[in-house]
Amino acid sequence: MLTPEERKFECVHCGFCCIALRIPVFSSDIRRIQIHLKLSPDEFVEDPPDYYDSERGWITNTNLRVLRQKHGQCIFRQENCQIYPFRPLACRLFPYSFVSKDNDIVLRLHKLADFCSGLFAGKDISIKNLHQIAQKIVDELKKNRNNHSEG
Ligand code: SF4
Ligand code: SF4
Repeated sequence: MLTPEERKFECVHCGFCCIALRIPVFSSDIRRIQIHLKLSPDEFVEDPPDYYDSERGWITNTNLRVLRQKHGQCIFRQENCQIYPFRPLACRLFPYSFVSKDNDIVLRLHKLADFCSGLFAGKDISIKNLHQIAQKIVDELKKNRNNHSEG
């Protein structure tokens, strides 16, 4: 559950999440980026590094690939995010996260949210919008698990 203070957020493009986190990508994320940039997936995604399950990871215990990094930051970051309108779901959720249990989604702050310069500032965020993003992630994780176990 998020407190009223925690519901205030506006991205100020400080870049912390683009540098410190490895961003998992679902097949829908990859398709969306491909369509806009006409790149092959290998140009912008790679296998997760060994430390992925540590605190820099996002969604642990999955076979998801992550956005490539270049010079220590996401390949799509220059001064700002170059793909902001069609960025991955995980980027849309930060600095928030969620737990999902028995078809219920509970929003919370990401464990590294304190480093986000846009948190506790700006307007109230749309809880409905965050729920929709979290639900999409849950659906994608299920799809990913099914595909993986069928393979
Ligand atoms: S896609 Fe954009 S918001 Fe997401 S990590 Fe890369 S630069 Fe940052
Ligand atoms: S850390 Fe927060 S303010 Fe900085 S780029 Fe990421 S979401 Fe935006």
